[in-house]
Amino acid sequence: MNICTLRDTAAPAPAIRHHPDLASSIGHTPLIRLRRASELTGCEILGKAEFMNPGGSIKDRTALGLLLDAEQKGQIRPGGTLVEGTAGNTGIGLALVGNSRGYRTVIVMPETQSPEKIAALRMTGAEVRLVPAVPYKDPGHYAHRARALAESMNDVDPGSAWFADQFDNTANRDWHETTTGREIWSQTDGRVDGFVCASGTGGTLAGVGRALKSHNRKVRIALADPAGSALAHYVEHGTLLSEGNSISEGIGSSRITANFADAPIDRAWSIPDDESVPLLHRLLIEEGLNLGGSSGVNIAGAIRLARELGPGRVIVTMLCDSGTRYPRKLFNPSLLREKGIPVPAWLDKSFATA
Ligand code: PMP
Repeated sequence: MNICTLRDTAAPAPAIRHHPDLASSIGHTPLIRLRRASELTGCEILGKAEFMNPGGSIKDRTALGLLLDAEQKGQIRPGGTLVEGTAGNTGIGLALVGNSRGYRTVIVMPETQSPEKIAALRMTGAEVRLVPAVPYKDPGHYAHRARALAESMNDVDPGSAWFADQFDNTANRDWHETTTGREIWSQTDGRVDGFVCASGTGGTLAGVGRALKSHNRKVRIALADPAGSALAHYVEHGTLLSEGNSISEGIGSSRITANFADAPIDRAWSIPDDESVPLLHRLLIEEGLNLGGSSGVNIAGAIRLARELGPGRVIVTMLCDSGTRYPRKLFNPSLLREKGIPVPAWLDKSFATA
């Protein structure tokens, strides 16, 4: 056999495996075993690594799900403007997916959110409007302002703007049901015993809860609620009541959103920051996982659920975004001390020598 024959009979080169665009690279995130949490409880506690999404958070999924639904329903015209009120991550997801699909994005956001998230959003080219953080019942709340902005744009140029409405547009929950929930069922080969996460819009908890319960009604679905949110009390006692506050961002609520309303939740806890934030510090230094505040609340909830269910169970939770979005909050020794949250020696040392 000579070289020429080899060439002649060579099989066609294997296809190059690739994603055709940004949207198709969202989701399909790995499940990572959380070693210490698993050893502590005798359960397998697995975190779904949503911080690996292209925009850096779970909210890339929400942005894509809402936008695909709007496109399918003809609610947005080519080259139109996406408008949303967001704590930041949904805005980043919408702006990136919007850029890749030829839309402009305008985001209304409370000014109390981390400067790193605000910068990440501005870097996308989105127009960012910062507003004071006020309760939902105030017409100046960022979600109302975003809706009003979209309406005023449509008054001037009908059909030019689309309000994503992540809190009450249930396409958010539905997308999590068909993507996140389905992925968890298949990644665990149906052996998941419990799922726990916090609620911002409620889309993740409700969507994943519905997907898992549709396969097995016995899967326990639990809410991990940050201090200052009224949802845990609502689930356990039927009334909205909150106490305390939290440095976590993007989670907790004083009202029942349409996405949260039908979530199949069996159990709920209010998680204080001095329980969740130290978990984040240990995960970073012992397991190399750098996570944001909502992930800490979720993991604290997973540990509580594991203790209730007993050893040998498989519990899944969400690792929603990265700690790199919150260095001035979660990794700031003086702020942590001010809030009564323990500061690990290594963190103090890192900042003393910085
Ligand atoms: N974690 C982070 C970091 C978030 O930004 C959000 C959404 N604001 C959530 C969790 C909550 O997800 P959901 O809106 O699906 O309840």
